[in-house]
Amino acid sequence: MIMISNAGSSNHLEGLSLFLSRQHPEFLKVFEIVNGLPIDDTHCHIITARDAITTPQRYVERISLTGYPVGTYFPQGIYDRWLNGDEATKFDLDKAYGIQSKVAGITRDIAESVFMKFLVKELASFLGCEPRLEAVIEARNERCKNYWAYVNDLFRDVNYENIMLDTGYTEGCGATEISEFEDSISPCRSNRLARIEMIQRELFPLEISFEEYEQRFVTRMREMLDGEGEGNYGKKSYGMKSYLLPFIGLIRPLYDRGVAQASWNTLRESFHKISPRDREANYNVSKDLRRYDFTIALEECLKRDIPMQIHTGDGEAPSVILRNQDPFFLEEVCRFDRDDVMRMPKIIPLHAGYPSVGKAAWLSHLYPNCYFELSIMTPFVHQSLFQRYMQVMEVVPLSKIMYASDAYHIPELYWLAGRWGKRYLAQALTEHVVGGTLSFDEAIEGARMILYKNNRSLYRLN
Ligand SMILES: [Zn+2]
Repeated sequence: MIMISNAGSSNHLEGLSLFLSRQHPEFLKVFEIVNGLPIDDTHCHIITARDAITTPQRYVERISLTGYPVGTYFPQGIYDRWLNGDEATKFDLDKAYGIQSKVAGITRDIAESVFMKFLVKELASFLGCEPRLEAVIEARNERCKNYWAYVNDLFRDVNYENIMLDTGYTEGCGATEISEFEDSISPCRSNRLARIEMIQRELFPLEISFEEYEQRFVTRMREMLDGEGEGNYGKKSYGMKSYLLPFIGLIRPLYDRGVAQASWNTLRESFHKISPRDREANYNVSKDLRRYDFTIALEECLKRDIPMQIHTGDGEAPSVILRNQDPFFLEEVCRFDRDDVMRMPKIIPLHAGYPSVGKAAWLSHLYPNCYFELSIMTPFVHQSLFQRYMQVMEVVPLSKIMYASDAYHIPELYWLAGRWGKRYLAQALTEHVVGGTLSFDEAIEGARMILYKNNRSLYRLN
């Protein structure tokens, strides 16, 4: 057995021997260094204690993009009532909607994915149990009697030093739960990002004039950035995040107040008339207002010289529209033309644009102010990260690629993303070293940039 000294991880080579035996001898030299490096996560979400004790089925549901919106496959509110109901309620709802068998069917397929089978092996080595899903969940439940210590172990094992926390997805949690998570991952630091849609969620239901809406939008946005008033759950923000692309597709900046005002008036008239589940009707009604808000927010980013993250690729079906998420739909915001001048704010398309990875990479190649972020693809395409990282490095400068996980719900997503991100990044960099396109030192410096340096310089973290 090969022993390698490594910061943080005691058993990272366990379960790796097959993989290692197929690698070029140079790989071990690269991997030894890369695996010990710190990580900054450019885009990720809160973990709550609600997944501390779980079942195999529930775990699979919560970790996957297929499973987590399972409630939307039943009439509004039914799935939550079933989840939280007593035995009699569960029985009645099951009879009416066939909930248990539908969820079991969905999660059975997810459990048959290579991703889940690989995850089970990896977690079994971390937890010291048999590589079966049931055994992993049993060992995890035992370990999670002290949940926050377990979460802290996962973060330390892959050496997280900073996360950029998008507080726009919290499953109803507030400041207390966010701080609880942030405290649990110490010494890793958490730096918050403000999502535009959080402000819209607060203001869209209000019966107020457009002037008041506009004024409150700007005030709230600045509070979230500066950490004044309610701030971003009581703290300042280091950048912003927008979810506009999956709602409307091509984003053209909008400066015309008259158009935005008309959109606000239409929203007021139809607010209680359109079902929240009619996604196209909802997005169409507020499209111009959202473009106007986005433009105000991007102007603020430009003024402060902070980046705007934009949800791209990925999906989060069935709530948002898959066909809208083409990375090239971001070209107008990368340019951000005004008075015939491209002002070029710092744009971070998220999720590697997956599955349109090549388009996201090409956009980042062409526009100097456009960056490349690796989340969702990392960790969900597991072993194929090697090919994807090769594809990204074809055209995106190493100084513009940023590691991220987009971890949510399940803390092991942070761990897997870090573990696999480092492993397959080392494999891709080794390919360059062996091929002579990068020197060993250039490859290691590339890993440093991708894993933490680029994030720190872009967000000006100390
Ligand atoms: Zn996210």
